[in-house]
Amino acid sequence: MALVEIRDVRKTFGKTEVLKGVSLDVEEGEIVTIIGRSGSGKSTLLRCINALESVDSGEIRVEGQQVHAKMPDLKKFRQRVGIAFQAFNLFPHLKVERNITLAPLLTGRIDKSKARALAEDVLTRVGLADKIDAWPEQLSGGQQQRVAIARCLAMAPHLMLFDEVTSALDPELVGEVLKVMEAMAKQGMTMILVTHEMGFARNVANRIVFMHQGRVWEQGPPAKLFANPETPELASFIASAK
Ligand code: ADP
Ligand code: MG
Repeated sequence: MALVEIRDVRKTFGKTEVLKGVSLDVEEGEIVTIIGRSGSGKSTLLRCINALESVDSGEIRVEGQQVHAKMPDLKKFRQRVGIAFQAFNLFPHLKVERNITLAPLLTGRIDKSKARALAEDVLTRVGLADKIDAWPEQLSGGQQQRVAIARCLAMAPHLMLFDEVTSALDPELVGEVLKVMEAMAKQGMTMILVTHEMGFARNVANRIVFMHQGRVWEQGPPAKLFANPETPELASFIASAK
């Protein structure tokens, strides 16, 4: 059984069908990068996987469990499936430690005595152990995004979704965030990520999925997909992304 099973998923907003029958399996430990033009449905697909949106038809299963916005144990489910966005959404009125430990404490994953050690552990993994007592506004954009990723890691997710997490960053800050994601990939985290960073997609992903007009248009190993695109749509996307 794949960790994520997506079967013929359709999703419509108003009159626009945004996902037109998407099927995709992601195995445990796999790094899958979704690429495609703006509006092709990449974010909507990620949001459906995390139950931030419900599918209209078809089915998504994560670890065998059917996912939808009204699933009974939604909170528990979201602990297992972390998502990070372009906007980091740190709580500005809470220090870094508290940003990280709030959810694990509220959900009872840890008790108070373990909070600081947990924050230290996940901050070490993103290279920011020395920022545990900082306020978000004292950090650079890249550092804030790494704290946001650390906050996800604090819930010990089984699957991580990343939606263009480097798109809002100044170019010189992109590398440090990609490095953190690469380290997570090496440690075996299952990851589905949407990115414009083609170098990262090429070097780190096991598989590239090209979405076009609400469909999985083409997919395969990065080397093959970039060197020999089978469809003119992917060929022109690759040319425009260079
Ligand atoms: P991508 O991430 O590939 O750029 P999205 O999944 O964000 O694409 O969006 C696909 C299409 O769905 C776009 O046309 C967008 O305007 C539309 N869309 C996304 N979310 C909503 C929403 N909540 N309400 C209405 N339309 C939406
Ligand atoms: Mg998007």
